Amino acid sequence: MQHQKVIPIVPVPAAPEETVSLYEAHKKVYPRSVTGLFARWRWAFVWLTQIVFYGLPWLSWGTENGSRQAVLFDLAARRFYLFGEVLYPQDFIYLTGLLVASALLLFLFTAVAGRLWCGFACPQTVYTEIFLWIERHVEGDRPQRLKLDGSSFSTEKLVKKSFKHLAWMSVAMWTGVTFVGYFTPVRELGMEFLQTRMDSWEVFWVFFYAAATYGNAGFLREQVCKYMCPYARFQSAMFDKDTLIVSYDAARGDPRGTRGRRDDFQARGLGSCIDCGLCVQVCPTGIDIRNGLQYECISCAACVDVCDTVMDKMEYPRGLIRFSTQQALDKGWTGRDIVRRVLRPRILVYATVLAALCMGLAISLALRTPLRVDVVRDRASLARIVAGGKLENVYRLQVMNATEETQRYRIGAEGLPGLAIASDDEVSVGPAESRWVAVRLQLPYGAAPAGSHAIHFTIEGQGGAHVREKSVFIVPR
Ligand code: SF4
Ligand code: SF4
Repeated sequence: MQHQKVIPIVPVPAAPEETVSLYEAHKKVYPRSVTGLFARWRWAFVWLTQIVFYGLPWLSWGTENGSRQAVLFDLAARRFYLFGEVLYPQDFIYLTGLLVASALLLFLFTAVAGRLWCGFACPQTVYTEIFLWIERHVEGDRPQRLKLDGSSFSTEKLVKKSFKHLAWMSVAMWTGVTFVGYFTPVRELGMEFLQTRMDSWEVFWVFFYAAATYGNAGFLREQVCKYMCPYARFQSAMFDKDTLIVSYDAARGDPRGTRGRRDDFQARGLGSCIDCGLCVQVCPTGIDIRNGLQYECISCAACVDVCDTVMDKMEYPRGLIRFSTQQALDKGWTGRDIVRRVLRPRILVYATVLAALCMGLAISLALRTPLRVDVVRDRASLARIVAGGKLENVYRLQVMNATEETQRYRIGAEGLPGLAIASDDEVSVGPAESRWVAVRLQLPYGAAPAGSHAIHFTIEGQGGAHVREKSVFIVPR
C-alpha cells in the first residue's frame, strides 16, 4: 500500500494592511531671504517687467486728432492700437507671428540657458517675489514666519496676517485693473474703479485677474511651477548636455560634514559642503539641489547666492553650486569651454528660424496696406432686374481705415464686360474707423450667361492704398 504524505495546512497570519496614499500632502515652503549677484538680477527683472506692465497702458500716443492710449486692444471696437499701428482682426496673422516668435525665443533661450526665464522673468516668479517681499516685511524672515505660523492665535498674529493680506490684495487689485487697462481705456477705467462704477465685464475681469494674482503668488507659489505649468513639462525636451543648469559640484562638495572654519577638512576626508542646509532653506520650491537636477528647479540661483556667501565665510573658493552644464561637470570644463559649446547645431537652427520669422514680420508690417476691406453679398436677394433692363446684385463692403487720418476711398468693380457701380462710388472713413457701405453693381441684360461669375472689387485710397477683393456676380436664368 502506498503511503500518503499529509501536508499540514498551517494558517498564515494576515499581514497588517497598510494604506498608501498617492496624494502627497502639501508642505508649506518658507524661503529664507537671500542676497547676492543673482538676487540683484532677479530684482532688476522684477522692476523692469513691472515698470513695463504697469506703465505701458498709461503711455499716450499723439496723432493728428489728438492723443490716444499707445497700447490698447480695443475688443469692443475690434481695433488694436500698437503705438503708431492700427490693427484690425484681419491682421491677426501678425499676432500669430509674434506668438510663434516668442515661443521660438523661449526654445532658443531654454536650450542655451535652461530655465532662466522661470527663475527671473516669469510672471509667477515675479509676483511671488513681490508677495514674499511684503510677507518678509510684515512677518519677518523664515525663522519668524515659522514661529508665527506655529504659534496660537494672538492679537499680534491677527494684526500681522490682516496687514499682509490687505497689502497682497492691494497689489492684486492694481494688477487686475492694469490688466483690464490693456483692453479698455485705462484712464476711464481707473476713474470708474475709484468711483465703483465699472461695468459688469470690467468688474468680472478685474476681480478674476486680481484673484488669480492673489491666489497664485500668495498661496500656490511653487505648486504652480511644479504641478500646473505646461512649460515645466516639456522644457526637458529642449535641454541637452550643454544647457546651463544650476548644479551642485558633488565631486568637490562630498562627503559633506560640519566643521570649524580653520579645520583641515581634507585631512578629515570631507568635501567643501559644510552641510549647513542654507541652500535648501532659500529654495522657493523647497528642493535640495545637492540631490542633482530636478524638474522642480526653476534656476532662480538663490542657492548659488547663499552657497557663495557660505564659501566666502569659510574662505573656500566660490562656485560649489553654480551655473554649469552636464558636460562641463563630467569633463571638468572651464567657463570658456562652456561658452564655446553655445553655438551648436540646434541653437543655430533655432536662431536662424527666429531671425527669418522676425525679419518677415517686420517687412510685412512695414509694407502693410493701411486699408482692409470685407465684401459680403446681400443674402436677401441674389439678383434682380431694375429700370433700364439691367441686372443688379447688392453687396455690403466693410471698409476699414487703418490710418489715423480721415481717408476718401474710390470703389470700383471689374471682371465682367459692362459691369458698373450704380451706387456712390466714393466713401469717406474717419481715422481708425470702419464703415459698412451698400454697393449696387449693375450689368446690361444678356452681357453674361446665367450662373455665378467671379468679379473683383477695387478700393483705392488717396495715399496710394489699394485693395482688390474677390466676390461673385449672379446672373439668373
Ligand atoms: S549652502 Fe553650500 S555649503 Fe551649505 S549645505 Fe548647501 S551646498 Fe553645502
Ligand atoms: S535648487 Fe536653487 S536654483 Fe533651483 S529652484 Fe531651488 S534655489 Fe532656485
